[in-house]
Amino acid sequence: MFNYKCTSCGKDYGRDEVRYLCPACSKDYKPGMPLKGVLTAEFDYDEIRAKFSKDNPDLNLFSAVEKEFYPEFFHGNTPFHKSARLSGLTGFDNLYIKNDSLNPSGSYKDRASFLVVAEAIRIKEEKIVAASTGNAASSLAAVCASAGKKALIFVPESAPKAKLLQMHVYGAEVVTVKGTYDEAFRMSMEYTEKNGGLNRNTAYHPLTIEGKKTSALEMYVQNGFKAPNAVLVPVGDGVIISGVYKGFYDLKMCGLIEKIPRLICVQSESSNAIHNFIESGVYKDAANPATVADSISVKTPSNAYMARNAVVSTDGFSVTVRDEDIMKAQKTLAGNTGIYAEPSSSAVLTGLLKAKNNFDNKEQIVLLITGSGLKDTAATAKYLNG
Ligand SMILES: [Zn+2]
Repeated sequence: MFNYKCTSCGKDYGRDEVRYLCPACSKDYKPGMPLKGVLTAEFDYDEIRAKFSKDNPDLNLFSAVEKEFYPEFFHGNTPFHKSARLSGLTGFDNLYIKNDSLNPSGSYKDRASFLVVAEAIRIKEEKIVAASTGNAASSLAAVCASAGKKALIFVPESAPKAKLLQMHVYGAEVVTVKGTYDEAFRMSMEYTEKNGGLNRNTAYHPLTIEGKKTSALEMYVQNGFKAPNAVLVPVGDGVIISGVYKGFYDLKMCGLIEKIPRLICVQSESSNAIHNFIESGVYKDAANPATVADSISVKTPSNAYMARNAVVSTDGFSVTVRDEDIMKAQKTLAGNTGIYAEPSSSAVLTGLLKAKNNFDNKEQIVLLITGSGLKDTAATAKYLNG
């Protein structure tokens, strides 16, 4: 069906030969470093092309797990539409929104959780473990609930209350960590190394990237079988932007599109490790990643290498934004589209406005909205009252 290819050394592995990273490239890995040896799934693109029909487009042809293993969790197929009001306000004639806040758990992460849980069903793992800033965990808890699997979550105690509540109401086992996301990541890795279970950590499990590619496939279909010109993506760990890249890459490999859209990385000014890596080519942790946009607050982004490649190889660029501008954008977005996005997602509108001169006002630009504002109302309240 597919082979894994190491993004660091290029070595191929059979689907069931490896589970997480390329063993050769990850042998010196320790938590606290961006991951090396992240695997990517390479399909038989000629076969997909032969089966793909525009009359009845079946996006499951691109899936790394067979349909028979899918949990009963209905996500994706989120709205993709032009916003005339936002276009008018910003001066861009073709400004589009892909609204992934409408997934069942309220975030883009449902795409990755779905595929990893499908994989757990396929390989008969009962427990799925993850570290998260909040959204990936509440999403994993939701998908596990739908499949009758156990979710074990490591999450910083500072995660927004609504996200913590979600994990509990879905029935997950939750370990709150006195520390940052990076600390939760380390603990979850130690747990699966010692006790087993399937680790869903973002990028560490290659199917998180595969799951996150599906928004690109959907946009292609929803856009009349065309790729847009540019997509702005909020970036923390770098996995969503790598997933969006992979979706368009698959379409290009099948000959269905000619060019992958320019991918624009939007980070918070303080959580800027990938931004600096894109600009300088030299990787360094973010010194102090504290930001109102909790979903993209990361000191050591696990998928820094792939994220940089997604931006550089598509002639994209990176921009950082300030917290106060993110919160202004949240209100602008909500007040002009009816979409209440969480701070990380509102950041893409700020990024567009800040980098205005890097776009042509006729090109088709997409703002990727990855999470609902209802998951962190405290951030909004603080800004509105402040
Ligand atoms: Zn390798």
